Amino acid sequence: MGFRPFVYRLAADLKLAGLVGNDTRGAFIEIEGPQRPIERFIERLQSELPPLARISELSRQDIATRNESAFRIEDSERTGVQDAEITPDVATCALCLAELLDSNDRRYRYPFINCTNCGPRYSIIRAVPYDRPNTTMARFRMCPACQAEYDDPANRRFHAQPNACPVCGPRVWLTDRQGREMPGDPIVECARLLAAERIVAIKGIGGFHLACRADSDSAVERLRLRKGREAKPLAVMVNSLATARAQALVSDASAEALTGPQRPIVLLPRREDSPISRGVAPALDRLGIMLPYTPLHHLLLAEGPKALVMTSGNPTEEPLCCENDEALRRLASIAEAFLLHDRDIERRIDDSVVLAMDDPAGPIVPIRRARGFAPAPIQIQFESPSPVLAVGGEMKATVCLLAGNQAVVSEHLGELPNAEAYRHFLGTIRQLERLLQVEPKIVAADLHPDYAATRYARTLGLPVVTVQHHHAHLVSCLADNGLVGRVIGIICDGTGYGTDGAIWGCEVLAGDETAFERMAHIAYYPLPGGDAGARQTWRPAAGLLSQIQNDFAGLAPEAFARVPADALAVTRQQLGHPERRPRTSSLGRLFDAAAFLLGICDENRYEAEAAMMLEAAARRAGQFEPLPYRLVESQNAAGAIQIDVRPTLMALIDRRQAGEDAASLARAFHETVATMLAAAARRAAERTGLARVVLSGGCMANQLLAGRLRDLLTAAGLAVYQHRQVPPGDGGLALGQAVAAARRVNT
Ligand code: ZN
Ligand code: ZN
Ligand code: FE
Repeated sequence: MGFRPFVYRLAADLKLAGLVGNDTRGAFIEIEGPQRPIERFIERLQSELPPLARISELSRQDIATRNESAFRIEDSERTGVQDAEITPDVATCALCLAELLDSNDRRYRYPFINCTNCGPRYSIIRAVPYDRPNTTMARFRMCPACQAEYDDPANRRFHAQPNACPVCGPRVWLTDRQGREMPGDPIVECARLLAAERIVAIKGIGGFHLACRADSDSAVERLRLRKGREAKPLAVMVNSLATARAQALVSDASAEALTGPQRPIVLLPRREDSPISRGVAPALDRLGIMLPYTPLHHLLLAEGPKALVMTSGNPTEEPLCCENDEALRRLASIAEAFLLHDRDIERRIDDSVVLAMDDPAGPIVPIRRARGFAPAPIQIQFESPSPVLAVGGEMKATVCLLAGNQAVVSEHLGELPNAEAYRHFLGTIRQLERLLQVEPKIVAADLHPDYAATRYARTLGLPVVTVQHHHAHLVSCLADNGLVGRVIGIICDGTGYGTDGAIWGCEVLAGDETAFERMAHIAYYPLPGGDAGARQTWRPAAGLLSQIQNDFAGLAPEAFARVPADALAVTRQQLGHPERRPRTSSLGRLFDAAAFLLGICDENRYEAEAAMMLEAAARRAGQFEPLPYRLVESQNAAGAIQIDVRPTLMALIDRRQAGEDAASLARAFHETVATMLAAAARRAAERTGLARVVLSGGCMANQLLAGRLRDLLTAAGLAVYQHRQVPPGDGGLALGQAVAAARRVNT
């Protein structure tokens, strides 16, 4: 990014002749001149690289001299094999921001200011190579002033494809919900509406946001009601890092994430005195905060409220809206006004979400990887001769295209049971194949026979490699950390199809890219109620306690008094038929059961709500005493260790009945889960001689659990790896599937 002008300036500085160009394979440079300056050139090429540019591979070869007298930049070619990367969208840079606020600048207050170091990329590209005619900027013809910048190698906007100004570029306007343009300065008016607690749909980089004042209980409640989003946390955009610090505790690592060029939503511990409405993240102790990342955001937040709810502009569960007409149609019942513009969005792409570990040595863990990060490739540690398409899981879907030694993981695509999201998934596969010019020869999919993605994989007429869910998580964390070979994996999540047909979810594995052994898992327990078993937290509690006695409700009468008697009766009957009860080792459901028994959460209104509330409660705790558990060695040497959590739950119930507060019990529960997993992993390490442990699965988004696991395992002398590039949850599955399939087919 900004690479060619940089090369031009460097060559000019060293008085070298030649050319630099871009083709579909990447950048190429021909350099001609005396030996010493050429060596200097190659050194400085790497050491003085502009902040957003990255050299993934550099190769050189001698060619015959051409007696060139000057250095020039070549136009893009349209030939060759594609593996040039398509860069992610980048937040407004400091230089552009300064110009935006400079009343003498010709782009003063122009909401689409950008340069080679910033602005939209992935969201506007239609075809490769990345050149203006191949973007949604094609229809804006540059004015002479913009064209001069675009043509001048010494200019910051040299070949900046979205280059624009108020004379020639896109414009912004404000409409009512009927689409009628409203008078006045659109940004000033929009800020005024927001200040007056109105809901406005705002067109951004990869789609629409629904915005309202973050400090207004009534505006937030209205937004929730209209969007059909009961309780799931809403993201907040604040005008500055200082304002972020007034709402939340911002560690150095979090500050870096907040202000980085990707500008993700960062999950931060809320300050008690923050004026942000509690309705933004009910019952949770964290806020998802981001800083402005487009010039439009900067102008709006300078003008209006300093903290806005900025949640994705879509009815719940559906993909983002990205066209003006579509937004007016789909969001008219939610928003009272629309801030629109006429730069089309080619690709809908959500805001990314990250979480910094408490431990300063811990990584920034991606929770949702989308804008700013996708589709930057992930380097893998081998060359795959056959390109692979991995179709991912079912929820938090992503896909991955692996070719050569690069894996491109798509942005978060949503929940595939939703029809819109499934269409989006199909479209993204087609688009990515076209943009990357990769034609997959192998398709990798989850082992689950009923996942929509797996069924789709079987229609492609290609060899299908299925990868067990938790094995894919393990390989994903391996590849994410640039590791190869065998490791221990602690893989914890809600649900994944096991090789024995059971629902796995709390697994200690030993494995590499191609194979794995199951070393330990939570002892199977029945999960009654089908889909409701993942929503109503009493159901896994019933399943777990039924392993102690048939009258499970009698073990925790106070908690089960909150459950309708007829539902209990049906469940008791269901649990009496072993053949009708699905077996699981899910850690997610164990967290649900604990949240139920402690009276913290009776229903997951969104995925992992109970676990998040339990974690929030645990962080409020002071003193605590851990709970008991048992590791049961299997009879035969090949068998996995069974983790028996019945004593854990019984102690939880007893101590709660004895009056111990729920927060300290929630904390004790976290500590106990971390301890039992660490103990099981240590035994697996002893048995196998392995010393590296990867942590993956959706439960590793639990900061407290992952943090304690890190501590315990590190203290035991094991090297611990967490995710850094793709999420630990199912958003990271596609990467693991792709790498596993590539290795399995090619070895
Ligand atoms: Zn810029
Ligand atoms: Zn212009
Ligand atoms: Fe999973």
